[in-house]
Amino acid sequence: MNSIINNIEIIKAKTTKINDVDFDNLKFGHVFSDHMLECKFKDGEWQAPKVVPYQAINLDPSAKIFHYGQSVFEGMKAYKDTNENVWLFRPLENFKRLNISSKRLAIPELPENYFMDGLKTLLQVDNEWIPKKDGSSLYIRPFVFASGNGFHASPADEYTFIIACAPSGSYFSGKVRVLIEEKYSRSANGGVGFAKAGGNYAGQFYPTQLAIEKGYQQVIWTDDNTHEYIEEAGAMNIFVRINDTLITGPTSDRILDGITRKSIIQLAKAEGIPVEVRKLSVHEVVTAAKDGSLKEMFGAGTAAVISPIAGFGYKGEDFDLPEFEDTYASSLKKRITDIQTNKAKDPFGWRLKVE
Ligand SMILES: *Cc1c(COP(=O)(O)O)cnc(C)c1O
Repeated sequence: MNSIINNIEIIKAKTTKINDVDFDNLKFGHVFSDHMLECKFKDGEWQAPKVVPYQAINLDPSAKIFHYGQSVFEGMKAYKDTNENVWLFRPLENFKRLNISSKRLAIPELPENYFMDGLKTLLQVDNEWIPKKDGSSLYIRPFVFASGNGFHASPADEYTFIIACAPSGSYFSGKVRVLIEEKYSRSANGGVGFAKAGGNYAGQFYPTQLAIEKGYQQVIWTDDNTHEYIEEAGAMNIFVRINDTLITGPTSDRILDGITRKSIIQLAKAEGIPVEVRKLSVHEVVTAAKDGSLKEMFGAGTAAVISPIAGFGYKGEDFDLPEFEDTYASSLKKRITDIQTNKAKDPFGWRLKVE
């Protein structure tokens, strides 16, 4: 039976896959919920979104996504608190950024209500898929791609917006060792590095494989021009603690404006931690590692929230970070996840209850 919630039509899946899922042993992004939101752009406008059964997508071989890479995405999470209330974290920021990314890739921007009402409706339909276990959440992947056809190198005339969901366990993979990149670049001035474009990830995989072969888990991206300034850690923003000051680079064409990054900056400032948003050179980090003032480095992004770095390689030399209790990484991660999961007050108004 079809039904309508928040003006969104719902076509229910005939069966559920939920009984096959072991919610106590969830990996990250491996199983998908019963439904997805689907919305098409055609005849010059976005058509009304629908919640439909999670299913494969049927595309023509000439669909422009395959040839010209017009595709952008978002990553967000829904959390269930102990009273089974459902919460999102700063979802409007994801909506705005999706449109910023779309605009840069000549993809038509989505109306806010299609994104927000579509998302809320999907979460209501797939409510049972939002894990209750501490540290688990429903990972949400909104994405838009060129589904219009033709080999002509120009923007497509049809697009598809989908939101798919994956119940996920915590992303924690232990501390990582990283390699400061001297040759390859993730992004360039005037390019698409600030957009969450699929192709940015494709371009990262090969240099990351090379780093893995050398015994590191992740690449620290440096500026494309001189490779002298630290920009991002893999697909996360990066923070460096020197003495008691937390430093992160300013957003630009090349650095993605992460929601976790800006939340950490605000939280840290509110906790009285000195924060500097400024260019940070590799030289400064290496010098601090040598004189012992380098205390912490960590990546920041939705999936892992905060991912501590154990050490880094640079020009054939390896540097270890000190191990100690009460790191900024652990206290800030706890602060953020407590706010996300409704365990703590939300002084910044970041949480949104889904109802
Ligand atoms: C998604 C992403 C981030 C983190 O953004 P959040 O909004 O915190 O999840 C950082 N850097 C890159 C390159 C990204 O793609």
